[in-house]
Amino acid sequence: MHLQEKFRLRCLRFIRTACLGLLSLNTMAQNETSQAEKPNFIIIFADDLGYGDLGSYGHPTIHTPNLDRMAVEGQKWTNFYVGASVCTPSRAALLTGRLPVRSGMAGAKSRVLFPNSANGLPHEEITLAEQLKAVGYGTACIGKWHLGHKEEYLPPKHGFDYYYGIPYSNDMDLTRKLEGPKGYWDLWTKEYKDLETSDFNVPLLRNTTIVERPADQRTITKRYTDESLEWIAENKEKPFFLYLAYNLPHVPLFASEKFTGTSKRGLYGDVVEEIDHNVGRIMTLLENEGLAENTIVVFTSDNGPWIKTEISGGSAGLLRDGKGTTWEGGMREPCIFWAPGRISPKVVMDMGTTMDLFTTFSNLAGADIPTDREMDGMDLGPVLFANGKGPRNEVYYYRGRDLYAVRVGQYKAHFITQEVYVPNPKRVVHDPPLLYNLDEDPSERFDLSESHPEIIREIEEAVKKHNSKMVKGPDLLELREKSK
Ligand code: MG
Repeated sequence: MHLQEKFRLRCLRFIRTACLGLLSLNTMAQNETSQAEKPNFIIIFADDLGYGDLGSYGHPTIHTPNLDRMAVEGQKWTNFYVGASVCTPSRAALLTGRLPVRSGMAGAKSRVLFPNSANGLPHEEITLAEQLKAVGYGTACIGKWHLGHKEEYLPPKHGFDYYYGIPYSNDMDLTRKLEGPKGYWDLWTKEYKDLETSDFNVPLLRNTTIVERPADQRTITKRYTDESLEWIAENKEKPFFLYLAYNLPHVPLFASEKFTGTSKRGLYGDVVEEIDHNVGRIMTLLENEGLAENTIVVFTSDNGPWIKTEISGGSAGLLRDGKGTTWEGGMREPCIFWAPGRISPKVVMDMGTTMDLFTTFSNLAGADIPTDREMDGMDLGPVLFANGKGPRNEVYYYRGRDLYAVRVGQYKAHFITQEVYVPNPKRVVHDPPLLYNLDEDPSERFDLSESHPEIIREIEEAVKKHNSKMVKGPDLLELREKSK
């Protein structure tokens, strides 16, 4: 070897060794800092709140000053998605960082768990609570669970130190007699103002014990918040993770006396404004306790508005359709991140999903991302804490166990579409798929499939790659207990 070349290689080796040394010193320093200053996490999850239901997302008559303040002081995401368009699979996606079809929390016939369901989230799944608990966090789940109401599947068995809440949807355990085939829908369209909390015999649990039945849903938003404030105050000395999942504004709509009749948007508005007020109480506590900067608060919803419930349902704004569908209105949600002084305030148009919270928060807390399974989350840190580009370029829209649509960049292809909440819903397989440019046409109105076959080919390539790594878990939503 030429002498000059030998010298060059030696220099390169020296520089490499020096850099590695510096890197490891830096990592050690970072680890020490992160041990001392691990951020707290609060995920506030509304139920069936639509993309267009907050003032800051364009609602003209729902007043949400606290969430609007969060959006101005923090980040308002406009392309943020959930893992499914109905409750159970969406919640599984949030807590596991994986598409729900992988965990079995996505069913071919039953789309969610019911009070007579036999199963719940499998214990082989690793929840965000388990991730954070393993690195020293206190963890609490307050509110709607909907990942299995039997004791072995409740939050205390999935990494949460504390649970207080209704373990499934607030319209379940119906005691009111339904009149005729339309009876169920009449509850939300004609009778919604006359409903009593006793019409829904849902239990309220503390840890694994029922403490109230039927749960008084008129005060449930306030009480979930009271519990949250108390739990934060008791657990603020070490890093904490609070998962606060309000049961509302899922039907039946119940507001406390203080809020009933106060919103221009009627009862639905009363309910959303009460949630907003209670989010404000949490913000105030964090600010008063000096916790605001070191606590990352996220507000979003599990799926889009239940349009079929008419006046009792929310709005997806300019997005098409709502809950239960793979149109944008079913799966794109308002999402606000808030940690004043820590999260750079801006409107973010990059893509994100609830599954990304698992990855982002695990990384911030110093918890290793599982490597023995396929994960679907990505780290949103570069966008949250700096001016980096979002890591996500694809979104997969499953309905039950099947892939219906895929977004790659600004384009979304629908391979299948299906009606919801009608007798004999029409399922249409599209060949070629419907194609929309979501940046230019967020309402999915103008099909581009004929003019852009090359984009369809590109999306089909992404699907092939995705399918090659897809291992579906067994359908765990179908099995019911015989005695009920
Ligand atoms: Mg829901």
